[in-house]
Order: sequence, then structure tokens, then C-alpha cells
Amino acid sequence: MDCIFCKIIKNEMPSYKIYEDDIVLVMMDIDPTTDGHLLIIPKKHYVNLSDIDLDTLNHIYKIAKDMYILLKEKLNIDGLTLTQNNDYGQEVKHYHLHLVPRYKNDGIHFSKRIETSSIEEIYNKING
Ligand code: 5GP
Ligand code: ZN
Repeated sequence: MDCIFCKIIKNEMPSYKIYEDDIVLVMMDIDPTTDGHLLIIPKKHYVNLSDIDLDTLNHIYKIAKDMYILLKEKLNIDGLTLTQNNDYGQEVKHYHLHLVPRYKNDGIHFSKRIETSSIEEIYNKING
């Protein structure tokens, strides 16, 4: 399979590794949103949230907690935003959790709004 993250895991391509165990690899994002932007990737190839199993997700979030402590200690970050794209908006089709350090006045607005339908209309669709 021609997957860039599988190649990194197999050491066929280089990366700045921060942490590694039997289940995951943590590396620096090649095009960071902010200083210290990390990616946690499972060593087994899952496409995204649709096919990854709960035990692996549990481990990924345990490591995310550890990385949050590490980034606070080493980079003095003010916060951490976790994102994870699925299908549309997902560039690399190998599950990865983004850990994006936040700094006061970094100017990033993940919660920027687009024009939306009424909450009631969407609520009724979800519950219908
Ligand atoms: P996505 O849009 O799929 O959620 O994010 C993919 C991320 O992977 C992007 O932030 C991009 O910078 C990062 N990325 C793409 N190719 C490589 C690579 O070869 N090495 C590393 N370390 N990161 C990569
Ligand atoms: Zn892969």
C-alpha cells in the first residue's frame, strides 16, 4: 500500500520522532500550524475514525495526555487543540490525531463560524 505514514512507521521515510511504542508513533508535523505541532499515528493502518478500534483510540488519547504534559514542560504552551480529520478535509488517509499547541494571541480561530441552518432543523434531522 502506498501510504506515506506507513512508510514513516517502517523507517522507509524520515521523521522527527518524539515518542514510540508498540502501538503508536508521535512525530512532528512537517508543516506545523504552530510551534510543536505533533501527530499521533497508530502503527497499524486505519483510514480514520470509521475503522479504528476503541482500544487503539484509548491508547492514542493516553499518549495525548502525556504529550500535553511534555509540551507544557518543554515549550511552555498556553493550551492544546486536538483535531482529527475524516474523509473530507483529510489529506493523509491513515488515522492521525493532531496536537496543536496554542499560544496566547496566536490568532488561530478553530471555532470560526460559517452560515448555518437553524439549530432546531438540524436537531430534528439528527433525531428523525
Ligand atoms: P490531515 O489534513 O490529513 O488531517 O493532515 C495531514 C497532516 O500530515 C498535515 O498537517 C501535513 O502537514 C502532515 N504531513 C503530510 N505529509 C507528512 C510527512 O511526510 N511527514 C510528516 N511528519 N507530516 C506530514
Ligand atoms: Zn498507512
